[in-house]
Amino acid sequence: MNTSLKNKTIQIDGSIGEGGGQILRTALSLSMLTGISFELINIRAGRKKPGLMRQHLVCVQASQRISNAIVEGAELHSTRLYFQPQQVQSGQYDFQIGSAGSTILVLQTLLPALMMQDHASQISIHGGTHNPMAPTADFIQQCFLPAIQQLGIQVDFSCERAGFFPIGAGQINAMIHPWLEKSKCTLLQRGKISSIHAYAIALNIPQDIAERELQVLTRKLELTECKKLYLQGISQGNSAFVVLKYENHQQVFSALGEKRKTAESVAKELANEVKSYISSDAVADEYLADQLLLPLALGKGGEFTAQVISEHTRTQAEMIQKFLDCNITFEPIGHIFKVSVEI
Ligand code: ATP
Repeated sequence: MNTSLKNKTIQIDGSIGEGGGQILRTALSLSMLTGISFELINIRAGRKKPGLMRQHLVCVQASQRISNAIVEGAELHSTRLYFQPQQVQSGQYDFQIGSAGSTILVLQTLLPALMMQDHASQISIHGGTHNPMAPTADFIQQCFLPAIQQLGIQVDFSCERAGFFPIGAGQINAMIHPWLEKSKCTLLQRGKISSIHAYAIALNIPQDIAERELQVLTRKLELTECKKLYLQGISQGNSAFVVLKYENHQQVFSALGEKRKTAESVAKELANEVKSYISSDAVADEYLADQLLLPLALGKGGEFTAQVISEHTRTQAEMIQKFLDCNITFEPIGHIFKVSVEI
């Protein structure tokens, strides 16, 4: 913790960097962990519809519930929030987003505080599980969680029901275990590739959408396996994803079907993303890179290589360094980057 800030309130301007919802979620996570209060203004000023949307509000309410926080400004569309956490309580929790807002982003907000407790927590979150501009349940299960498991963080995760926009009604369950042994991260080389698997889901819509996506992926990538998956759920939606297994890392790329976009073009874009990752030498893709910073900063630090450093990742680094005594750097190495988190 940044000890000079104890008993103080950090002032945060939500329009910095990318000006998105991640600033709020990271502030909540780190405030609960350190006990430092914050006042956030200009919430999501960089977005078309600024202020707290349903998913962000649930992040605030869920954080308030697990940390018994004193909160001001927790209303839909609010552009200012004051958050003063008390004691974080592990336990059994159930959160309803009440829309197709991302359950995964709520989980990622609560995870840091809950994994630092002495006892495990069991949480269920209801809402969207496959959302645009957020990690999908498949990405979390097969990429983010295996990566942080290498740091010693243990989470048992399941996607009980899939939830797509606009109905949502999905459910994820997570058992978050206490983080007992912290390991330093050294993920500079991904090692040799051992398999490439492609999956597609067509929930309550014609199955040929998933089949056509798998045909394109088979043509464009050297797949080891390709398979249709069947998930439970009452919403309608389509997702395809590719899992690349390397000696030292497992990377996932996912795509969501959209109205007025053919299954072929969804799969083609996905295949291009995968190809560009394969031809780079990096361990983490653009998204995993921003998601790994916080677990590293809370553990023993370390380094990894990243394909791209987005504005989102730079904003995330800036936020983490507001609360914690650590130094995060991005060093270009040819076309990729070395990310270092020094504690
Ligand atoms: P905003 O509220 O400002 O509209 P948001 O709250 O939905 O945005 P962002 O601030 O954009 O969220 O953060 C989205 C998070 O989702 C980031 O951590 C990013 O890494 C992750 N993410 C986005 N797209 C993908 C993807 N295709 N695969 C994995 N993770 C993703």
